[in-house]
Amino acid sequence: MIYCDVSLPVPLDQSFTYQLPETLRHRVRAGCRVLVPFGSRKLTGIVLKLHDEAPEGAVKEVFRLIDEEPVLEVELIALGRWIAQYYCAPLGEVLRGMTPLTGEIRKTKLYSLTDSGRDAARQLLLGSAEDDPTLQVLRLLESRPLSATYLQKRLPKAANVIRSLEKKGFVEIEDMEAQRDPLRASASRLRASWLAGAPAGMKLTKRERELHAFLELHPGTHNLGELEVSVTGASQAARSLARRQLIALEPEAPTGVFASEGPPRTLNPHQLPAYQQIDAALNSGKFQTFLMQGVTGSGKTEVYLKSIDACLALGRSALLLVPEIALTPAMAGQFFNRFGDRVAILHSAFHDAERAEQWRRIRSGAATVVVGTRSGVFAPVQNLGLVVVDEEHDQSYKQQDTPRYNGRDVAIVRAQGSSAVVVLGSATPSLESRYNVERGKYTLILLPERIEQRPMPDVEVIDMRQEFLETRKQAVFSRRMVDMVTERLEKGEQTMLLLNRRGFSSFVACRACGERVECINCSVTLTYHRRDRRMLCHYCNYAQKVPTVCPKCGSEYLHFIGTGSEKVEEELHRDFPTARIARMDRDTVSGKRHFETILQGFREGDFDILVGTQMIAKGHDIPNVTLVGVVSADIGLGLPDFRAAERTFQLLTQAAGRAGRGDLPGIVLIQTLNPEHYAIRYASEQNYDGFYAKEIQFRKLMRYPPFSALANVLVRSQKQEDALQMSTELGRLLDPAPEGLKVLGPAEAPVPKLKTEFRYQLLLKAVNRKRLNETLRELQQFAQKRRWGPTGLLIDVDPLTLL
Ligand code: ADP
Ligand code: ZN
Ligand code: ZN
Repeated sequence: MIYCDVSLPVPLDQSFTYQLPETLRHRVRAGCRVLVPFGSRKLTGIVLKLHDEAPEGAVKEVFRLIDEEPVLEVELIALGRWIAQYYCAPLGEVLRGMTPLTGEIRKTKLYSLTDSGRDAARQLLLGSAEDDPTLQVLRLLESRPLSATYLQKRLPKAANVIRSLEKKGFVEIEDMEAQRDPLRASASRLRASWLAGAPAGMKLTKRERELHAFLELHPGTHNLGELEVSVTGASQAARSLARRQLIALEPEAPTGVFASEGPPRTLNPHQLPAYQQIDAALNSGKFQTFLMQGVTGSGKTEVYLKSIDACLALGRSALLLVPEIALTPAMAGQFFNRFGDRVAILHSAFHDAERAEQWRRIRSGAATVVVGTRSGVFAPVQNLGLVVVDEEHDQSYKQQDTPRYNGRDVAIVRAQGSSAVVVLGSATPSLESRYNVERGKYTLILLPERIEQRPMPDVEVIDMRQEFLETRKQAVFSRRMVDMVTERLEKGEQTMLLLNRRGFSSFVACRACGERVECINCSVTLTYHRRDRRMLCHYCNYAQKVPTVCPKCGSEYLHFIGTGSEKVEEELHRDFPTARIARMDRDTVSGKRHFETILQGFREGDFDILVGTQMIAKGHDIPNVTLVGVVSADIGLGLPDFRAAERTFQLLTQAAGRAGRGDLPGIVLIQTLNPEHYAIRYASEQNYDGFYAKEIQFRKLMRYPPFSALANVLVRSQKQEDALQMSTELGRLLDPAPEGLKVLGPAEAPVPKLKTEFRYQLLLKAVNRKRLNETLRELQQFAQKRRWGPTGLLIDVDPLTLL
């Protein structure tokens, strides 16, 4: 075994063979990470296989072994291979995404002498010249283990010497978490908040002034990484402002405080048989997938908890995946309360060190219940028995970069490999999952009623066209909405208002010439953000000043069109001057903790009204909310995406589900210009089955999923001619369309220019997976032959958005 095949995080679909140095031959195993030379770079890769077949041509040597224990076990490597194959992604990139420790954990190396190193040191000390670098290193190390940085400072040549000492087995390397100056932490690990005004005469750069003003206008703490998105150069400016004590910078603290929950509950007559079915499947030890379709407030979580209990009792581990936004301290708290220190939480707001710690606890088998978001599906869980995917329809399970996997689907594949039971839970299952019930792949479990027979909320649809005819006013709120909000305020009950669009107004147009103000990088209109006094691109975050005259014709008649959550908040302040109002969207919420702070404040009654985008629609359980208002149900309906109706139905149903969850009954008002649209009608009736029946017909007619295997193929280039040329070539390659395949396009993508790249699109619908996969491979090979570069061709299998 003197060679190993290593998978490297490069966009090439192959592994690379390296020779193992003598010292590593018996230590390297499949699944370990190694550091290897690649061109002029050093890369970390995963060892796939050890063997003794010499490759053709020159072969380079592995530099260093990073882990004594494999970071990816055989089972997970197999899962990685499946992902690479199914999503047409390079294995190296898949595997890198599966090991949270790679690159994320900043380590400093600590060197110490081994026993044989000590012997060698003693011998050398007798015979060598004083200025021999090897001698100097050994001498330094004799006293105590030293860090790489320290050695490097004392002896510039130390690195080379160490490497040769390591090869001889004289030196051991240990990875240590670096103790770092908080101000030097990376931006995403820091939170910034405003402290004090600048004293007269203090000179600030433009960026410092901008950031300082932004923080003053946006009270509270903000994740610095996210600030960088809205304020250019924020990271550097923040450090300099912090040194001058104008702002505070502190490390992003882990979410540590957990709300407590009561003891386990007695399952109600719907929950009990649901649990019993899952329990029976667990006991059979066979792979099986359940779809648990339970209306909002039906107590799905309690069934998850009981099923996890049953799984643990069988000596197996459980994995629970939740959508990005749902993993709040309150949610984690329920699990700590029930399972104590057997729980590991994989949260992206954790420090790297903390995440690594959780990972090790899972790996060692100490943690047997794992709660995590999408990438939690790769947790090194031992003896997996149960996987729960909560809110299985949620879009955040789909990764938006290569590899573009869907965490829910990967979870099912993983469970199959471990003979585990899967429970997919949702009040509004994806069409795909529900269809899998119809064709017998999944078993349906229904929870048709709310806990304690609480009524489903009353839903009223308000026709905003009629409202306009009657009032002759283009108002944000209907009269009915105003009345109902007023009533809540009088009774001391709470209101949630949803508008799924942030900013103040959605675009600015010129009345004289019709020009719309667009982003310079993308072919989309800029959104007006009033508080920041900017026009902002929601795709690339480009920002510019608000124009006072039309950039094209110079006319002063500019028109601000459309309503965003910021405007809703302002109108509320005007209509209800005494109400306490909070807004929750990407502009007011930076970082998970901030999100939880607003939510917690709302739960505790600090606010009367919570305004927000889809963030507020998901999963929150706030008993005093008796009114949910949807300001405009139409925003998503017009999108050129075959899932537009499904999305709208899900969003409205979930939002409506926030009302009346306590002892008080709830009411939901949906304002719309399309009251007869089936997505809105069925959502207002909370009628999933009705919606499913209607939507599945459309999918069948149009051969959209679940009636075809779909892939979105994008070609991209900075030059429009190139992008057009590339898409034409692909179009020719697929003309006539291969048997069993339907090709739409090539055509301009719905957003033809994004982040300075021009984009063309082909949509592939195939009768089966195999056909689709073969064709996509052909396209990849073609792109490689034509040297389109790693970003020229983008393949998205099972795309969740076509925009
Ligand atoms: P879902 O996720 O289905 O919308 P939840 O799991 O949030 O519903 O449950 C709704 C509420 O009912 C929660 O406050 C939960 O604590 C409570 N609950 C769940 N099961 C029971 C039960 N068997 N008895 C009493 N209360 C329950
Ligand atoms: Zn104009
Ligand atoms: Zn843009």
